[in-house]
Amino acid sequence: MTIQDGLWFDPAKLFIGGGWRAGGGGETIPVENPSTGEVIAAIARGTAEDVDAAVAAAQAALDGAWGAMTATERGRILMRLAGLVIERAETLAQLESADVGKPLVQARNDAIALARYFEFYGGSADKITGETIPYQSGSTVLTLREPHGVTAHVIPWNYPMQILGRSVGAALAMGNACVLKPAEDASLSALAVAALAVEAGLPAGALNIVTGYGHDVGAALSGHACVHHVSFTGSVGTGRRIQIAAAENVVPVTLELGGKSPHIVFDDVDLEAALPTLVGACMQAAGQTCSAASRVLVQRGIYDEVKRRMAEVYNGLKVGPASGNHDLGPLVSARQKAIVSRYIARGREDLTVAGEGTILPDAPEAGHYVAPVLFADVPPEHPLAQEEIFGPVQVLIPFDDEADAIRIANGTDYGLVAGVWTENGARQMRLARKLDVGQVFVNNYGAGGGVELPFGGVGKSGHGREKGFEALYGFSRLKTISIRHG
Ligand code: NAP
Ligand code: MG
Repeated sequence: MTIQDGLWFDPAKLFIGGGWRAGGGGETIPVENPSTGEVIAAIARGTAEDVDAAVAAAQAALDGAWGAMTATERGRILMRLAGLVIERAETLAQLESADVGKPLVQARNDAIALARYFEFYGGSADKITGETIPYQSGSTVLTLREPHGVTAHVIPWNYPMQILGRSVGAALAMGNACVLKPAEDASLSALAVAALAVEAGLPAGALNIVTGYGHDVGAALSGHACVHHVSFTGSVGTGRRIQIAAAENVVPVTLELGGKSPHIVFDDVDLEAALPTLVGACMQAAGQTCSAASRVLVQRGIYDEVKRRMAEVYNGLKVGPASGNHDLGPLVSARQKAIVSRYIARGREDLTVAGEGTILPDAPEAGHYVAPVLFADVPPEHPLAQEEIFGPVQVLIPFDDEADAIRIANGTDYGLVAGVWTENGARQMRLARKLDVGQVFVNNYGAGGGVELPFGGVGKSGHGREKGFEALYGFSRLKTISIRHG
């Protein structure tokens, strides 16, 4: 069965310069449904020449209709796009769910979040202003925020719609022209959005989508001499390669590279309120979330109770096809399942399993299902407590006091998000200040939080901030104008 019938775009075409065309090489890449293992569509395998064409189309848009628009006009187009995404949210969610194996209810949230990004950035497009700076007498100095120009966006497969929205939404609001390379495992929703952008009246070339493999399309785009800014979300290894490629052209880079984020649970926690989030903040998207709270640090006085209660939740978790809306769907690919399964096997050798979910009997054999596992009493230096697994695996680590908690929490290469669970207000603030991360949630935990909250990491989690108003500064450059008028 294919999903091609009834779609408002042809998934096997690239979107360049406002039009649809086959990839220059003529090859396609099969699209697999991870719940069933079935091939449901094909996407174009773009080439370096296609990237050249897309970058040229983006530059032409900047030199033409797109570059001539006012910020208000750009904002209106993004708002119209938000409305179209809401109208088609159900179809977008079904498409995403079939493409990446996300339970339908989670894919619906992603579609609504995508609309929210276009709405937020549409509304903010004409709210970014410069300054006047007191300077020498007889002079007036002012600053202007200008677009970088052509921006490259290389995005992963775990939250394709949300990451497209936050990255392209902010870049377009500031007047950049975008070339996006979605992950080969998750390209359908990006193409669907491109078709909606045409309906919304986005000028030709302002947004271009080149599907294909990372090692050819991604590499050609991030190293392209006519690209002025690169935004990347994905693994540390690829992020490093992208930063090196961008360095050759001396252009700015935003890297969002995942993490090993902790929940830090003190003995005065309201456990009843915290429990669903302690588990849910990792199980969402089957643990394939950069900000997944994959480490749970618990103060010794309540450690056994938290372990018992979390184990009960784990033992009730059900894994099955995305369409069934179970607690977890499959992982995105056989490759991702193999990576995660190796970590689980390693954990079973060295560690104690506290709780484990169940793969439902109706889950097709060819799907990429992994049952979630909670490991207990994990030494903070163990690889499962240090490395990003990107699957449904959490480790429980006991701690003695505040200083111990901070040392363990800060004791990985990453620093994306942290959750602090305590009723003690002074302690909340001390922890929030001492944790080496980009976002701290106190008595709650958002996977990056809402559209409005600046998001990004420290250390190997990357640098630069997306989301919120902060992203608009990142997707623009400042010009200072000094006028001598006497
Ligand atoms: P990845 O290699 O970092 O892929 C992310 C994006 O980069 C995809 O669009 C990919 O394209 C592209 N890419 C790959 N090689 C490239 C290159 N040489 N130059 C430019 N772009 C390139 O991640 P992955 O292989 O899909 O997943 C591996 C691990 O990365 C996961 O296990 C997880 O730990 C981590 N990860 C983190 C995040 C996050 O949100 N921080 C997201 C995804 C994965 P193709 O996929 O089409 O080749
Ligand atoms: Mg797929």
